[in-house]
Amino acid sequence: MSWLRSIFKLLTGVSGEKLTVEHMGRLLTSVNHSPLLTRRRSLVILSRIRLLSFVAAILILTGILIDYIYYDPETFIKLASFRGAAATILFILTFATRNSDSLQSAYRALFIFVGTNVIYQALYQPIVLPDYLQSIVDLPTAGYALYPFLIAACFALFPLNIKESFLGAVLFLTAELLIVTLATTDLNPQPGLGVLIALCSACALSSFSAISQMSYMVSLVEQASVDSLTNCYSRNSGEEILDVQFRIASRQQSHLSVVFLDIDSFKVINDRYGHEAGDKVLTTAAKLIRRNLRESDVSIRWGGEEFLMILPHTDADGATRAIRRLRASGLGKRPDGKPLTASIGIAELQSSNAETWMDLVELADAEMYKAKTNGKDDFRVFMPKPKPKSKMSKTA
Ligand code: GH3
Ligand code: MG
Ligand code: MG
Repeated sequence: MSWLRSIFKLLTGVSGEKLTVEHMGRLLTSVNHSPLLTRRRSLVILSRIRLLSFVAAILILTGILIDYIYYDPETFIKLASFRGAAATILFILTFATRNSDSLQSAYRALFIFVGTNVIYQALYQPIVLPDYLQSIVDLPTAGYALYPFLIAACFALFPLNIKESFLGAVLFLTAELLIVTLATTDLNPQPGLGVLIALCSACALSSFSAISQMSYMVSLVEQASVDSLTNCYSRNSGEEILDVQFRIASRQQSHLSVVFLDIDSFKVINDRYGHEAGDKVLTTAAKLIRRNLRESDVSIRWGGEEFLMILPHTDADGATRAIRRLRASGLGKRPDGKPLTASIGIAELQSSNAETWMDLVELADAEMYKAKTNGKDDFRVFMPKPKPKSKMSKTA
C-alpha cells in the first residue's frame, strides 16, 4: 500500500495521515462523495464551463476577422459559418447552465463544451490543415493547429477524479486520432503522430492538475463542513444538503424523512460536571447517532445539543424503525451513570404538506417539542390530519 500512497502523494501533494484510504477512494471515483462535496464540485465545474464557454465563444468569433484577412472568400465563408455555429452553441451553454447544480448537469455541460470544440476542429481541419508540416510555418494555420492543445488544457480547470480524467482523456484522444487520420491528406504519418504524442502529454498534465484540484477540494469541503466536536455536519452545510435532498425527493416524489433530536436536561450536566464533561457526552451521543444511521443518511449538529438527521428514501415507518433502534442502543451515559435520553420528532415529506425543507424541519421540531412537553425521553411522528369528507361522498 505504501507505493500506492506515494503515487497519490505525488499526484495530489497531500501527505502523511491526511491521505487516508477514504481520501484516496474519493479521488478515484465519486461513489463515496457526500452530497455536499458532489454539489460543490458540480457548482465549480459548471461555473468554470460558463466562463470558458463565454471566453471561447468570443475568441472564436474574433477569429473571423483573421480568417477574412488570410483566406480566400470561399474558405472564409465556410470557416465563418463553423465559427458562428460553435460560438452560438457555446453562448447558449453559458446561459443555459445558470440554474443547474447537479453532477449530471455538470457532466452534460462538460461533454457539450468539449464536444462542440472537437466537432468545430473536425470541421475546419480538412479545410485549413490538410498538411500538418505546412501548419508549422504558416502563421494563420498555426492558430488552428494549436486549438486541440487548448481543448486539452481546459481539462486542467476542472476538479475531476481519476476515473473521470482518464475517461475524458481517452474519449478526447480517440476523437483527435480520428480527426488527424481521417481529415488530413498528409502522406507522411509522422507529423500527425507527433501531434498525438504531444496531445497525450498535454492531457496527462491537465489530468494531473484536475486531480490535484479534486484532492484539495475534498480536504477543504470536509474540513469546512464538519463540526469539530461531534464530527457531524455543521448547520450551514447541513442546510445546503437538506436543500439538495429536498429538491431531489420533491422532483422524484420519493420519501424523505427528517428527524429532530434534542438531548434531555443537558444543561444540568454542564452545570453540575462542567463544560468538558458536557462536551464528552455530546461527542459520544453523536458517534452513536451516526453508527445507527445508514451510509446514505446524514447527521447534522443543528444547535448546541440538537441534532438533525436526514433519511433519504425513507418513509415515516422506516424512520420510526431507525429511531426505535437508536433508542434501544442508547445515546450513551450521563456523567452520573444514568442513560442519556432525548426527545425526538419525525416528519416525512410525502405524508406532509411541506413546501420547503424549512417546513419539514419545523414539523419535526414541533413533534420533538410535543415529546419534550409530554415528559421527555420519547418520540413523536408527524401525522397529517385526515382530509374532511366532501359533501359528495357524504350524500353518496
Ligand atoms: P431540555 O430537556 O428542555 O432540552 O433542557 P436542556 O437543558 O437540554 O436544554 P437547554 O436549551 O436549556 O440547554 C442546552 C444547553 O446546552 C445550554 C448550553 O450551555 C449547552 N451547550 C450548547 N452547546 C454546547 C457545547 O458545545 N458544549 C457543551 N458542553 N454544552 C453546550
Ligand atoms: Mg435544545
Ligand atoms: Mg435539550
